[in-house]
Amino acid sequence: MSRIDLHSHSTRSDGKESPTEVFEHAANAGLDILALTDHDTVKGWQEAAEAAARLGLGFVPGIEVTSVARVKSADKERLISVHLLAYLPDPNHEAFHKMLSDTLTTREARGRSIVDRLAVDIDITWEMVLEHLEPGATIGRPAIADTLVSMGLVENRSAAFDFYLSTDGPYFVSHDTVDVVEAIGLILKSGGVPVIAHPLTHVTEKTNSEDLPGEHFELMIDSGLMGFEIFHRDVPKPARKWLIDMANKHSLIVTGSSDYHGIHGKPNRLGENCTDPEMFERILAAGTGSKAVL
Ligand code: AMP
Ligand code: FE
Ligand code: FE
Ligand code: ZN
Repeated sequence: MSRIDLHSHSTRSDGKESPTEVFEHAANAGLDILALTDHDTVKGWQEAAEAAARLGLGFVPGIEVTSVARVKSADKERLISVHLLAYLPDPNHEAFHKMLSDTLTTREARGRSIVDRLAVDIDITWEMVLEHLEPGATIGRPAIADTLVSMGLVENRSAAFDFYLSTDGPYFVSHDTVDVVEAIGLILKSGGVPVIAHPLTHVTEKTNSEDLPGEHFELMIDSGLMGFEIFHRDVPKPARKWLIDMANKHSLIVTGSSDYHGIHGKPNRLGENCTDPEMFERILAAGTGSKAVL
């Protein structure tokens, strides 16, 4: 059976390895097919397709689209970041392309704000952060984490996220970007297949089922969301059962992926979760904006 991993990152966003290196590692890990899904960019597609062809691997073009949702829980409205995997979209579709370029702009502004906050307490500058990014790469907290590591303030990226970059820490600034429902619509218009990445990571054994965002998920599905990335290390067991039931109820695609960011980027390893070939066939059949190289 083919080993299919549908979520990985390169230095075109916040991964630590070039698209070529990612595909070389995929070949070594015994994968047959890999999707490159850098955050809000397609800059790695060409190199990935070439590396995949040379190595005899399949390449699936994808993007991890940053969006936000306003979710009501216990009478409060919260702004939460929702990552949408878009498979086989047309990156030249005008409105879809504009969404991505707008997000790159707001990502830079937000990165600068985080650095401004950090700079009150530590000697960090925006120029130092840029040294940890390839020119044109998507900016996110991992580049700031790499800067903190090089300053000797933390041991590695994870340690930076534990304190300096934590969502409930003093320096955090939220993403301000496209609403999830609008993003789903634009992915569909570009011929892409929208799948929610690592859903419900915050759920624990203690979470009451009435606190799960059922309405929010129904709204995303009604808007055209086509699948859930359920088999991902950050999706907790109690969330999986709820998600599988919902996927069955709506005949959704279910995927499994690593979310690889390089050997030194995150502990996630290529192929640690894989996608069922039947589910992958459904993505191939539904995606019309670009072509996989198989
Ligand atoms: P941002 O897009 O700026 O909100 O940053 C989120 C990104 O940071 C995610 O896509 C992950 O790649 C990365 N990330 C989140 N938590 C960690 C962690 N604990 N260790 C390493 N990378 C992380
Ligand atoms: Fe990432
Ligand atoms: Fe993500
Ligand atoms: Zn990812």
